[in-house]
Amino acid sequence: MLTVPHALTGAAIGALVKDATVAPLIAFSVGWASHYVLDTIPHWERLYRPHDEIKFDTDQSARDWPKHIFVQAVLDVLIATGLIMWIYQSRTEVGSVMLWGAVGAVLPDLLDNVPFWNRTLRRLPFFSQEQKFHDSIHINEETQRQVPKILGLLTQVAVVVISLFIIFAA
Ligand SMILES: [Zn+2]
Repeated sequence: MLTVPHALTGAAIGALVKDATVAPLIAFSVGWASHYVLDTIPHWERLYRPHDEIKFDTDQSARDWPKHIFVQAVLDVLIATGLIMWIYQSRTEVGSVMLWGAVGAVLPDLLDNVPFWNRTLRRLPFFSQEQKFHDSIHINEETQRQVPKILGLLTQVAVVVISLFIIFAA
């Protein structure tokens, strides 16, 4: 899934657990877990085309990434960062809990899909298990092909809308 829906889900989790003791830790952990749950549902990895139409793997070194994918990845991360900063400032009283939720929610992709360090981390204990788990739980291409293509876009729009609603209502 894109970074924007992952990050907003984490922030929404932060909003929901804001009153708990050790709320930042809970937001971070549940946010982290939310990443794997969202990756099991159909989703496009890129907004302009379904995943299976682009032959590419994040294990390739950055200079081998197709330019349009690299550009979208950077934009996705910048937009997610901007949104989280905006939320942080609009809801200052719970902003830091939401921030911890968002960091947890994007962490698996930060560890496993950033070409500058993902292949190095893969060789280390814990990170290698985490990457295997992330890969294994992520919905596979075959399953994505069996559902209507548009679903991959709709799921992410739904996640964004629901998360924003929770962030500003909770
Ligand atoms: Zn992921």
